Amino acid sequence: MTDFIQRFHFSDSPVRGELVQLGTSVEEVLDRHAYPERVARLLAEAMAASVLLTTTLKFQGSLTLQARGDGPLQTLMVECNHRREVRGIASVADDWTEDMAELSLAQLFGADAQLAITIDPEEGQRYQGIVPLDGSTLAQCLEHYFMQSEQLPTRIWLASHDESAAGLLLQVLPGHDRGEDADIWPRLCQLSETVTDDELLALPASQLLYRLYHEETVELYESESVSFHCSCSRERTERVLLSLGADELRGIIADQGAIEVACQFCNQEYRFDPIDVEQLLRGGAVVTGQLH
Ligand SMILES: [Zn+2]
Repeated sequence: MTDFIQRFHFSDSPVRGELVQLGTSVEEVLDRHAYPERVARLLAEAMAASVLLTTTLKFQGSLTLQARGDGPLQTLMVECNHRREVRGIASVADDWTEDMAELSLAQLFGADAQLAITIDPEEGQRYQGIVPLDGSTLAQCLEHYFMQSEQLPTRIWLASHDESAAGLLLQVLPGHDRGEDADIWPRLCQLSETVTDDELLALPASQLLYRLYHEETVELYESESVSFHCSCSRERTERVLLSLGADELRGIIADQGAIEVACQFCNQEYRFDPIDVEQLLRGGAVVTGQLH
C-alpha cells in the first residue's frame, strides 16, 4: 500500500477533512522494535494522528506527539514534518505482561499521564500544548487539545490493524460562520461516525468518501505521499555529544575506547573513535571515510 494523506473540502461549507492511510511507514517503525501488540497498534494510530495534525501547520517544521506517564506504557512518541515524513517510538516497562493489553488508555499510561503536542517550526518559536491523557481513546484526547488550544471544533477517527493504520479528521476552518447550512457540522460528524475500522483501513480514498458523504459535495485535493524517515544524523549526534562537555567525552573514551550512540527511532549507530572525539572537541568537522 502506498502511504498517503488526502485532503478534501465540503463545497460551500467551512468544513475540511483529511484522510490518511499508512502501511509501509508503520511497518518500518514496528519492524525495528518488538512491541506488544496493543502498544504497536497505539503507536501506529499515533503515527496516523501525527500526519493528520501536520496538515494544520501553516509553516515548514515538525509536529511531535508525546505521551508520558508512570504506567506500564512509559512513553509513546511520534513525529511528522511538513514533508509528511513520520517516525515513532514507544517504551514499555520491563514488567509488561500480556494481560496489560486489556487496560484502558488512562490505565496504560498511568494516573496524571499527559499528552504533549509540540510544534517546532524551522524558523520561529516552538509551541507546546499539553492535555491530560484522560480520554478513552487517543482521538478523544486530540479533539480535546483542539478545543482547548485552538477553539476549533475537530473530530478524529483512528484505526489500526496488522502493521497498518488509518485516520480521518474533520475540522471547522477558523474564521468562518456556518452560513445558511447551520447543521452541517453535526450532520457531517454523524455521517463520519458510521465509518468502520475496516473501511478506514482498506477502502480507496474516493470510495470511502463516497460511502460516507455521497449526499454532500466533496472536493478532493491532490493526495500527498507519506513515508518513514528518521531525522537523526551524524551531525546532530555530534551536537548532542558536544553538549556533554570535553571531560565527559574523554572519560567515555578512556573507559570504552570509543563512543557509540544508537538512534532510538531507527537503530542507526554512530561511532566516534578517539580521533573523531578530539577533532570534534577542536571544532573541526569529523572526516569520515577510509582513514578510520
Ligand atoms: Zn534515526
